[in-house]
Amino acid sequence: MTFIDSHVHLADPAFDADRVEVVERARAAGADALVCIGESLDAARRAGDLAARYPGFCHFTVGIHPHDAADFVEERDLAGIRAELARGAVAVGECGLDYHYDHSPRDRQRDAFAAQLAIAREHARPVVVHTREAEADTHAMLADAGRDGVRGVLHCFTGSRELARAALDVDWFVSFSGIVTFRKWADDDLVRLVPVDRLLVESDAPYLAPVPHRGRRSEPSFVPRTIERIAGIRDVPVQALAEATSTNARRLFGLA
Ligand SMILES: [Zn+2]
Ligand SMILES: [Zn+2]
Repeated sequence: MTFIDSHVHLADPAFDADRVEVVERARAAGADALVCIGESLDAARRAGDLAARYPGFCHFTVGIHPHDAADFVEERDLAGIRAELARGAVAVGECGLDYHYDHSPRDRQRDAFAAQLAIAREHARPVVVHTREAEADTHAMLADAGRDGVRGVLHCFTGSRELARAALDVDWFVSFSGIVTFRKWADDDLVRLVPVDRLLVESDAPYLAPVPHRGRRSEPSFVPRTIERIAGIRDVPVQALAEATSTNARRLFGLA
């Protein structure tokens, strides 16, 4: 099968020892493209270097993760994000709200997220959104942004059907990771709820390796396991689902 990994932290130090091999294994497994997430300005710079090294295959994003929102300095960080967008970043993010870990105060998370939604709108780029146990605020903020024409994806989504519907209502996408292969996963209806033209898949590597690799470092070459699981849940051919999610990733991120 061919596929696009819509969310991989390939610039993460977890891949420093064997990044070239990880890319080779991704291609051998059928990857057409990887969207390398810059979850900080530093990570985005490194992800941008990967995009330059693998043109047309690696693409990159730039944003400030909600975990780091306490350190968000609007003037400095928006300038940094603008610089990476000018260098070719395909999206703003990952950004969003994480009230599970609460690594940053919630008001600071909302401020950083709002600023990044605004810069996405200004630059007409999609947003990659991380949301966990922050349903009401995520709903309100994405609905507002969506009405203003911002498009995006709820990545590694495990939230409520209501929040998924709110995203779909403003033409956003929903992405699933290896979590849907875990034995404890119990929301197949959520996977069925997302229309085929709004569905993305991702490794979120180095995290969340799908079964049967669970517990190991994840990598893009494992994404077919997640695609197979989603195809099984939705009772559709694996290849058709892989192609649809690739088309969707190309459309959202504006890939050639
Ligand atoms: Zn995330
Ligand atoms: Zn991520």
